[in-house]
Amino acid sequence: MSIHHTPRSWPIISHNKRLNGTWDKIVKIDKALATYQVSLADSIKGQVGNGSKIRFWLDIWLTEDRLKDQFPTLFTLETAKSCVVADQCIVTNGNYSIKWNWRKQPRSGEAVNELMEFLDLLYYFRFKGGEDKWVWGGEALDSFSVATMKKVLYRVDPPCSKSILEWNSWMPMKVNAIVWRAIQNRLPTYDNLIKRKILFGPDICCNCLAASESVDHIFASCYVASVVWQRIGRWCNIQTFHIKYIQGLFVAVKQVPEMEHKRKMVYSIVMAAIWCLWETQNKFIFENKPVKIDKVLGDIKYLSFLWIKNRANCLNLDWNRWKSIVL
Ligand SMILES: [Zn+2]
Repeated sequence: MSIHHTPRSWPIISHNKRLNGTWDKIVKIDKALATYQVSLADSIKGQVGNGSKIRFWLDIWLTEDRLKDQFPTLFTLETAKSCVVADQCIVTNGNYSIKWNWRKQPRSGEAVNELMEFLDLLYYFRFKGGEDKWVWGGEALDSFSVATMKKVLYRVDPPCSKSILEWNSWMPMKVNAIVWRAIQNRLPTYDNLIKRKILFGPDICCNCLAASESVDHIFASCYVASVVWQRIGRWCNIQTFHIKYIQGLFVAVKQVPEMEHKRKMVYSIVMAAIWCLWETQNKFIFENKPVKIDKVLGDIKYLSFLWIKNRANCLNLDWNRWKSIVL
């Protein structure tokens, strides 16, 4: 692959358009697969042996995402963007440490949050020894065949998962990104971390201790989410917020009349609520801060106002009126 690589970018599958041949044909298959919303590059995952070949930030190896996409703020601070896993994860006398190459120290709230999540994921990582390997399709599918390719095609999210989500210009990029990942079941929830063998043990939701912590549970069926959607439903005058799956929220939003920006307003509040529910869950897990539903609702009200006010020039929002709404 090195002959196709350019130092000015970080392609996942390098390609020199001037060289025709087998590699060119393989890369063209990627374009065809893209019409089925399947990425060839996303279907190949690194299995770390000694870490000398798999690129730390640019290849898929630790989770189902590239670390550069999962932790964009940290990636911008990284100076050695093409480093391999062995460059970054150092083992001394059996103890693992990370050799960072920061352009400047991560100090912003966003960078520190990412760093905490990052360290949590890396904590469970161990070198397997031997050569690094590339496997097809991640944890369950480790060799290529037509059958495994079919599995990859069939396990693509149902069309409704992607078509129900629209980019919301009134919300910050980080909120759009979290909601997008939630819809695709790509958040590091307990059930996902256990499935990917990053965590072991029970995957019980820390709020209710009654069910597995999954995307659908955190954002739909957990009692915290149920109360939040009930109150927001009342605020926005929507009766259909009794949901079991996260997709149900977006179906409900689509049913809101579009007049006077109402649908986009409700959509924004729903996205802000998803952001706050995720933050709340993480604060409970990582900072041991128990969930207070009134605090969650207060955050939703404040952040949705702040974000909409700053981005929706067409609206004349007044904080005193907004905050007087009883949730
Ligand atoms: Zn729960």
